[in-house]
Amino acid sequence: MTNAPRVGVLALQGDVAEHARMLRTCDVEVQPVKTADQLALVDALVIPGGESTTIGMLADREGLLNPLRERIASGMPTLGTCAGLIFLANELIDSRPDQVSIGALDAVVRRNAFGRQVDSFEQDLEIQGLATPFHAVFIRAPLVEKVGQSVEVLATLASDKIVMVRQANVLATAFHPELTGDNRVHQMLCESIFTEK
Ligand code: GLN
Repeated sequence: MTNAPRVGVLALQGDVAEHARMLRTCDVEVQPVKTADQLALVDALVIPGGESTTIGMLADREGLLNPLRERIASGMPTLGTCAGLIFLANELIDSRPDQVSIGALDAVVRRNAFGRQVDSFEQDLEIQGLATPFHAVFIRAPLVEKVGQSVEVLATLASDKIVMVRQANVLATAFHPELTGDNRVHQMLCESIFTEK
């Protein structure tokens, strides 16, 4: 055992292994989170990309929706990427009618916002707080269409398409920071563990 903070990765579906690998480069302990008991062990949480309807359905089946809402509302640093951003939002466009989300992020998020022709693309992004651009990978990505007053926009595409936001302890990206060799977005999450305490 070490005194390193323990960061969970919600491990119901999606690119869990890639996030775990990236977090290990930030000198934290990584804990897969599939149950409420495992959620209780972590200091921070990553909600990975994948398929947001599936993540929502499995979280509901595991009885994780309310525990997640409570931990996030009580300040647990949380990073949602792509499907994770969708799962965090309080209002969805183009979602499935039965789709559940946590509602921890005051934002309107459109699923699959880039359409079929541009299913996936990569772009260097200016992110507020980072000194140099971040190479961002977008895969059937959502877009943040609108944010509430307490949400800070950290990055945009083409100056007006919002792709990274922060609301207090919640960080969210429309792209996949775990798919590059650059751990700076994960570092932002890990650093906020120390400022929360
Ligand atoms: N399009 C997926 C969804 O709606 C998200 C894609 C991703 O996480 N790469 O959940």
